[in-house]
Amino acid sequence: MNRRHFFVAQAGWPALLARSGRGAPRATVRTEIKRLKLRHTWTTTMSSSDYRDTLYVAYTNDGLTGHGEGAPIVRYRENAEGARQAVESVRELLAAAEPWQFAKIMQQVFGQGEWAGKAAIDIALMDWVGQKLGVPLYRYFGLDPRDTPVTTFSIGIDNPEKTRQKVREAADFPVLKIKVGLDTDEATIAAVRSATDKPLRVDANEGWKDKEVAVRKIDWLAGQGVEFVEQPMPAEMLDEMHWVHSRVHVPLIADEACRHASDIPKLAGAFDGVNVKLDKAGGILEAHRMIQLAKALGLKTMLGCMVSSSVSVTAPRIFRPWWTMPTWTAIC
Ligand code: MG
Repeated sequence: MNRRHFFVAQAGWPALLARSGRGAPRATVRTEIKRLKLRHTWTTTMSSSDYRDTLYVAYTNDGLTGHGEGAPIVRYRENAEGARQAVESVRELLAAAEPWQFAKIMQQVFGQGEWAGKAAIDIALMDWVGQKLGVPLYRYFGLDPRDTPVTTFSIGIDNPEKTRQKVREAADFPVLKIKVGLDTDEATIAAVRSATDKPLRVDANEGWKDKEVAVRKIDWLAGQGVEFVEQPMPAEMLDEMHWVHSRVHVPLIADEACRHASDIPKLAGAFDGVNVKLDKAGGILEAHRMIQLAKALGLKTMLGCMVSSSVSVTAPRIFRPWWTMPTWTAIC
């Protein structure tokens, strides 16, 4: 048994490798950590940073290269080096696998964990598939690009002066998403409202730990022209979210509480919709599954992103959820 076959056997890939019908790898897989330097310090209730590292993956096969990217999520204890190592651990398996079996490939890489690495592989593979078929992926999924909804622009937590500056810089975006979840929420929204009367959407990133505080904040935000509130309370406080949901009149969207399709059924009744992100889900295929399931359960859907480059940000635009509100994060 040579080294490649040893790794294949350890990872449970003999069937895929056997179907590839070749003794030598057909594809090449390249990984690179990309450091994205931010114009503004990006602060949420989770963390604060001046740059973000993402994982870029290039999958080359038969003269075509698919490009993928995954943004590690600190909330789930991910980092770029971990994502890179995860992809490197299956490099030889990807090289030997039959790319047209992309769904099966994505079911088997990694198992649980390292979702950013998985997303980078998935996006690269699906980009390759689209190129190979000669059709954009929205057509592969039967979607209409004219249905692409209005994009929102996210404003991270900052002092009032900086917040006003960020709002002015986002003049081209008709809808803003404002990060809240701290004691400064009222000052933040007041700063935003002093600079614009645009529709707002708000993301508390699990910041409110008390259900009565959450209801009070949401009711106040409703009077400030806020269209929905994302993840008001910690993901595990689902009983409290049922209580909150029954008392407010603004749509509530699950983000941190909704990582994969299996999370969605229990969210009905506590939320009105779910935020689907490729970096959380592990790529396009799982995101598609999440959207279909959420719609079947009567939940609204939105597409979100992490701080990442256009390689990752453009990928979810192939979808047209029933009620979609992409959230392009502030980078550059
Ligand atoms: Mg969010």
